Amino acid sequence: MNGDKLMEVIDLSVSYGPIQALKGVSLAINKGEIVALLGANGAGKTTLLQTISGLLKPTGGSIIYQGVNIAGMEAEKVVEKHLVHVPEHRQVFSTMTVLDNLYLGAYHHRKKSKMKNIEKNIGKVFDLFPILKDRKNQLGGTMSGGQQQMLAIARGVMAEPELLLLDEPSLGLAPLIAKDVLELVRNLRAEFGTTVLLIEQNVTASLKVADRGYVISHGEIVKSGSSKELLNDPEVKEAYLGHT
Ligand code: ATP
Repeated sequence: MNGDKLMEVIDLSVSYGPIQALKGVSLAINKGEIVALLGANGAGKTTLLQTISGLLKPTGGSIIYQGVNIAGMEAEKVVEKHLVHVPEHRQVFSTMTVLDNLYLGAYHHRKKSKMKNIEKNIGKVFDLFPILKDRKNQLGGTMSGGQQQMLAIARGVMAEPELLLLDEPSLGLAPLIAKDVLELVRNLRAEFGTTVLLIEQNVTASLKVADRGYVISHGEIVKSGSSKELLNDPEVKEAYLGHT
């Protein structure tokens, strides 16, 4: 990995009371990469994403993002740095229209972005997610699961992410729709140059989308490699690929 480093997590530890969920995690992401974070239930994947985005405070270690240590920074400040987290369970605002959900995504940049910028981003989002354009006046809660997931990602895109943290974007979706959602990740990079850290239950599908991956187990990174290496790794195959 020789590129331009966008984020480096160094020796990061996080605890929930007596439970140490992350035990000295280190990893790095280059600008423009798509990196998958793999691991069993309870391994610490969501905890890592929540700590990077400022929702959880670490007990130790650093998160160097664009040269600044953001470990422990308020979530609101983190998103202003264009580090955007799309959490698990697609939390769209169900009683608001698709368009209003998208405007809310731009909320953090309301002071800096001129209205013109926001409108331009809405245009780009509609190019990338045509279904959202067709349904812009529909209430979020009346969309299908796959459409809501797209809306959740699109809302994240409105915050102009440099680094997008995606937690299980295909959770609960039918396989074909899940594939569409994952392909969108590549389109996002192609269109906006977005760097992505992706948690995905479907390990094979996520490694097909990602350039590289890390495997986390019991709060520690136990393996890393290119997607090809991980797809062919006997331990990864045994532990994760049999179940996808
Ligand atoms: P999953 O795929 O099931 O979401 P994960 O890899 O994202 O798993 P985390 O949710 O980060 O794992 O959980 C890591 C560890 O921290 C687990 O042991 C979990 O039980 C524990 N944990 C997570 N959230 C809390 C919490 N709010 N309070 C106490 N312990 C928690």
